[in-house]
Amino acid sequence: MKRLAIYPGSFDPITHGHLDILQRALRVFDGVVIAVAQNRSKTALFSPEERADLVRQAVAGIADVEVDPFSGLLVDYVRKRGATIIVRGLRAVADFDYEFQLALMNRQLYPEVNTVFLMTDQRYLYVSSSLVKEIARLGGDISDFVPKPVSVALAKKLGTGDGSGKG
Ligand code: ADP
Repeated sequence: MKRLAIYPGSFDPITHGHLDILQRALRVFDGVVIAVAQNRSKTALFSPEERADLVRQAVAGIADVEVDPFSGLLVDYVRKRGATIIVRGLRAVADFDYEFQLALMNRQLYPEVNTVFLMTDQRYLYVSSSLVKEIARLGGDISDFVPKPVSVALAKKLGTGDGSGKG
C-alpha cells in the first residue's frame, strides 16, 4: 500500500527550508502532496495561484510530488485525498507551541490523522517566508534561501531589481 503524506502550508513563498522538509518526507513516504492553503487569515503577498505556481516551478523534476491548492479545513482535504498523514516542519522551539496545538486540533477533528514532524537542516533553521519577504523588501540578497524563480518573482512583485540583491 502506498503511503501518501500531505504537506500543507501557505508557501508565501516557498523557501529552501520548505524544500528541505519535502526531500526528507520523500525519504519516508511514497508520495507527498504539497497542499497550498488558499484561505489563510494571514495576509499573503502572493495570490494562491502565484504561490502554487512557484511551488510547481520549485519542485519541477522531483518525482512523487504533487502540488494541489486547497481551501477549507485541512482535515477535510486530507480525508478527501484518502490520506492519514500530515507532514509539518520544525525549526526552533518557537514553532513547537503552535504546531502542537494544530496537530492536536486536527486529530480531534479527524482521529485517524497523524502529524509527522520533520526537523529542518541547520542551514534553514532561521529561514521563514516572512523573513525572506522582509529581506527582499529591503533590497537584500535572498538567493541562498529561495529557489531562483522565487527570487525573480519577489523582485518583480516588490519592484526591487532582478532578485540578485544587487539592484
Ligand atoms: P503555515 O502558514 O501553515 O505555517 P508555512 O508555509 O509558513 O505555512 O509553513 C509550512 C510548514 O513548513 C510549517 O510546518 C513550517 O513550520 C514549515 N517550515 C517553514 N519554513 C521552514 C524551514 N525553514 N525549515 C523547516 N520547516 C519550515
